[in-house]
Amino acid sequence: MMELTERQEIMLGIVKEHEPITGEQIAEKLNLSRATLRPDLAILTMVGYLDARPRVGYFYTGKTGSELLTEKMKQYKVKEFKSVPVVVKEDASVYEAITTMFLGDVGTLFVLDNNHALSGVLSRKDLLRASIGNQNLHQLPVHVIMTRMPNITVCKQSDLLIEAAKKLIDKQIDGLPVVKDTEYGYQVVGRITKTTITSAFVELLLNEQI
Ligand code: ADP
Repeated sequence: MMELTERQEIMLGIVKEHEPITGEQIAEKLNLSRATLRPDLAILTMVGYLDARPRVGYFYTGKTGSELLTEKMKQYKVKEFKSVPVVVKEDASVYEAITTMFLGDVGTLFVLDNNHALSGVLSRKDLLRASIGNQNLHQLPVHVIMTRMPNITVCKQSDLLIEAAKKLIDKQIDGLPVVKDTEYGYQVVGRITKTTITSAFVELLLNEQI
């Protein structure tokens, strides 16, 4: 969690000992004005160390830094972090897929069937493997080389980000399609990758959107 200032540490100590205690009373104990302490109280409450109850005062939540971190991580949902999926059709050529991967600046492509449902996944190495010693990448359709349904690992919008991260590790893959159920199969609505997880990790620790 974030580093607290010396004054914030002292304020936490006062609340621990005297809870419930008003901002006014904390200020008195420190010989400071209530206004001076306002930003510190806002931070301690926002970060989760303190609980503020109107007309009662401040309470110590009893949570440690790592408990608060875990709590925050468990609020992260796939929906909030997913990025835009890059897709190709089943009958696209390997050549087209390679071009799409470069232009889309992604490492994983999702393949859609004629009903626009998820039918496969193409990784960088799938395309490299197909390219080695193959003279005619224009003639080779991606459905021949892709990893296909039902062997695709997916995630849903409402899943926890940490669950998606676990799937990436367990299956040793770089990306997951975010899908919705339809009568034709899975509609692809997003993408979760190792980069997504890295950004979430940085945001969690630096408390900044990137
Ligand atoms: P790379 O091949 O570049 O190392 P990955 O580790 O993501 O990239 O892919 C490894 C293999 O797993 C590839 O054959 C790929 O088609 C397949 N794959 C990638 N993502 C998924 C997924 N979400 N579900 C099932 N298979 C996948």
